[in-house]
Amino acid sequence: MTLTVTILGATGSIGRSTVDLLAQHADRFRVGAVVGGRDAAALARVARETGAAFAALADGEAGPALAEALSGSGIPCGAGESAVLEAAARDADIVVAAISGAAGLRPTHAALRLGRTVALANKESLVCAGDAFMRDAKRCGARILPMDSEHDALAQALAGRSIDDVTTMMITASGGPFRTWPAERIAAASATEAAAHPTWSMGMKINIDSASLMNKGLELIEAHHLFAIEPARLGVIVHPQSIVHGMIYWCDGAVSAELAMPDMRVPISHCLGLGDRLTIARGRPLDLVAAGSLTFEAADEARFPCLALARAALSEGGAAPTVMNAANEIAVAAFIRGALTFYGIAALVERACTHFAGVHRVAPEDVDAALAIDAEVRAWSAAALPRMRATG
Ligand code: NAD
Ligand code: MG
Repeated sequence: MTLTVTILGATGSIGRSTVDLLAQHADRFRVGAVVGGRDAAALARVARETGAAFAALADGEAGPALAEALSGSGIPCGAGESAVLEAAARDADIVVAAISGAAGLRPTHAALRLGRTVALANKESLVCAGDAFMRDAKRCGARILPMDSEHDALAQALAGRSIDDVTTMMITASGGPFRTWPAERIAAASATEAAAHPTWSMGMKINIDSASLMNKGLELIEAHHLFAIEPARLGVIVHPQSIVHGMIYWCDGAVSAELAMPDMRVPISHCLGLGDRLTIARGRPLDLVAAGSLTFEAADEARFPCLALARAALSEGGAAPTVMNAANEIAVAAFIRGALTFYGIAALVERACTHFAGVHRVAPEDVDAALAIDAEVRAWSAAALPRMRATG
């Protein structure tokens, strides 16, 4: 039986790795819908290459360019939010949710509420509206498969056993490109330096989040929702080689870990396999002798304040993670275009969290509520940016 796979975010880093794996196992999979953000030519290329059943671009104005690029292929297409939601809701056995940022919430939820199996890379869905996503998944009979490498590792190490026997779930962080830099040097870092990830090849936003360790903070929040585990039993450890991805510390002192080379096709294949293992052609086998040593160190929250901010938002709960994520998205975009310093990111996030602490307390009850908070915090953060430039 062939399985139909829809890819939300098909032109991105996760999307392209997914396409690579699907092509390697063309006898098992066919591609349903493919969705992209703004690049009509790139989306048309993916649609043609995969023989997709439908292509949708978020940018409504690029509709004619997409239709032109797909002419003669026989692949139907659409543009704008309604086309993206239509694509997400089309019949599929697995929906890969790999749009970056809060823009992924609505399309991911559109698949989830139809009871689909959702392979979730878009961690922002859980950060911004985790309670609503997990509740609706249960209510609609949808399965959420973690596609983030650390969470896939935790799921593999847990192997269906009871969370009651878990003392701590530990996720690893590479430490990013600034792991060994002194704070003064980090303060002056450019976007190019921040994007130069030592072990993983990823999209720009997650690269910057990895440099600030905000990504690890988002992943703690993601783990809290995915595994229904309280914040006090979640931990982060820096592991520069990115070979151990997640560890379960059991109540009897035993530790189960998942190891693999840093290659997103490993967690992607685990999701697509639905429990089976898929061979990865051209994968790099793990050679522990060549790796030499695996090292571990504590995360330094003084040099990486975003991690502490995210842990505080996780402990606070309610709308705090939604607020934090929105401010971070604005701050990262500003940093990339040179309108904020690296430590300005944490400074803006902290200000937004403080400002909104008394305004939005309860966790958003649905996606609309989460996106309303998201929009308000984005507007506030964008307005605060010019003041940050002087101080941040
Ligand atoms: P990316 O920037 O490379 O790709 C993002 C994709 O989303 C692109 O296809 C883009 O066209 C599309 N997109 C952007 N805005 C959109 C919109 N408004 N509507 C529809 N589509 C839109 O990002 P990525 O690195 O592939 O990451 C995607 C998600 O997966 C993020 O949430 C990230 O945190 C998560 N993730 C990525 C990695 C990785 O290794 N890249 C690892 C773990 C988790
Ligand atoms: Mg990760």
